[in-house]
Amino acid sequence: MTFQLADRLSRISEPQTIKMAKLGRELKAQGIDIVDLSIGEPDFDTPVHIRDAAKKAMDEGYTHYTPVAGYADLRAAVAQKFKRDNGLDYTPEQIVVSTGAKQSIANAVLSVVDPADEVVIPTPYWVTYSELVKLCQGEVVFVACSAENNYKITPEQLEAAITPKTKLFMFSSPCNPTGSVYSREELEGLAKVFLKHPQVYIMSDEIYEYINYTGPHESIAQFPELKDRVIIINGLSKGFAMTGWRLGFSASALPLAKAFDKIQSQFTSATSSISQRAAVTALTGDLLTAKAMVAEFRKRRDFIAAGLASIPGLKVNEPEGAFYMFPNVSAFFGKSFEGDTIRNADDLCMFLLHKAHVSTVTGGAFGAPECIRLSYATGMDKLEKGVARMKEWLGKLV
Ligand code: PMP
Repeated sequence: MTFQLADRLSRISEPQTIKMAKLGRELKAQGIDIVDLSIGEPDFDTPVHIRDAAKKAMDEGYTHYTPVAGYADLRAAVAQKFKRDNGLDYTPEQIVVSTGAKQSIANAVLSVVDPADEVVIPTPYWVTYSELVKLCQGEVVFVACSAENNYKITPEQLEAAITPKTKLFMFSSPCNPTGSVYSREELEGLAKVFLKHPQVYIMSDEIYEYINYTGPHESIAQFPELKDRVIIINGLSKGFAMTGWRLGFSASALPLAKAFDKIQSQFTSATSSISQRAAVTALTGDLLTAKAMVAEFRKRRDFIAAGLASIPGLKVNEPEGAFYMFPNVSAFFGKSFEGDTIRNADDLCMFLLHKAHVSTVTGGAFGAPECIRLSYATGMDKLEKGVARMKEWLGKLV
């Protein structure tokens, strides 16, 4: 029997990140010792006081449907977080809590992108952005950012990419996959361009806000003339090690927040009541565990950056945030091992997985086919092993 699925399925692809994690798990199940550097989540456990809040919530009967955009006190706590961390004023009504930042991004794209609208995405970019635009039949306009500019878009590039049909600009800072962080001056340069084009909304994905080694975190919403057009995406997955809890949120102008609430009310409704109670505890508490985690990530970054730089052929970038390295691997293209030639980053990832038993993600997934992404959100022992194996096996390519 053939299954007649909707056309939209053929427009989008499964994230390579999830595909690599699946492949790695399959090899592990066969007893192979895989060093998994493909994962995009902190290896730390959720802090105890947040877990305790969830247990208490269950016992206190927080087990029912909640308002679609989240409990009122949680939305107030999120608004307070924006004031505390970013100096931004939002009312609780401007906050929509969701089932993870990914859903907040979907709410935003579904709310503003019509068929044939253009959406500008600087590359490298996070995998989901383009796929959501395609689901809405929007036109993705990729802008290739150079390694020399640490993979950040320049005002000139932005200006050249915007047309009267441009509806949305999507980016992350700190960036997944490059770890690049936009400074206030860099954001100001972009803000000046956006001010000339009032039809463009800006989706600013700040999910890695706390995982920043240069600090302080800057948001493009901090430019008052632009604030009403900025949709900030954030959540608890990365900074509080809460990926499994599914807790994201957006902050935006009220008409946008109402649109997100409406979209979400027909898709998922609210996220889990228990996660929401835990989130109030996370957001109203201190950031000590986040800071401890970042200190550890910084040590690992320094280690893996030096380790990768010692491997001939890898061109290593300098991430200032998030927990990824994004080296250029094009020096290996055209080289071979036992008759098999590495044509591109996809081939190199497969070579590393099957020969070195190190799982990474091809840069092709992020719009940068000359790079690969390695996550250092894993123990130092694994990083040591991973770098040593990569060095050994990449050295065999001739
Ligand atoms: N944005 C970026 C840039 C991410 O890396 C991720 C997670 N990998 C998300 C959004 C989604 O986060 P969440 O788990 O909150 O859905």
